Amino acid sequence: MKSNLMIKYCPYCGDKLTRKMVEGRKRLFCPECERVYYENPTPVVAVVARDKEGQILLVKRKLEPGKGKWALPSGFMEIEETPIQAALRELKEETGITGRFKRLIGVYSNKSEVHGYLVNIIYEVEVVGGNICAGDDAEEAEFFAVDQIPPLVFQSHREALGEVLK
Ligand SMILES: [Zn+2]
Repeated sequence: MKSNLMIKYCPYCGDKLTRKMVEGRKRLFCPECERVYYENPTPVVAVVARDKEGQILLVKRKLEPGKGKWALPSGFMEIEETPIQAALRELKEETGITGRFKRLIGVYSNKSEVHGYLVNIIYEVEVVGGNICAGDDAEEAEFFAVDQIPPLVFQSHREALGEVLK
């Protein structure tokens, strides 16, 4: 699968899209209205959330990809929110925990078998409140001491956590 989304029809006129060389790469093209349909990666956010003891908050995923495996709290950015707002919202939805922005750890790109090409923006946040309670697409939410962290299912999450713990 080369394209990000399995888009088959022109979003403007509904005609069937083809592939055509445009600006040096094969792109989705509508022969009817002659528009190029540019494919872009989707932004996702994740957080390394630490409490006062330095423990790390993880979620066990309810859904694919990574179903049943541990990961950082994460999710898709919505329109009309900043990446930081998205990250703190996902944290609250998945774990019940309220966080405060600390710093940007890094920006990673990867390809998900389920969601296609992603840009993953990962922040470090301080836990400031809330009661831990798994929700949304998290099956469990739990704080782990640094020496007891289970394997994380996503490479970008492992790299970001490594940055925080180094
Ligand atoms: Zn069209």
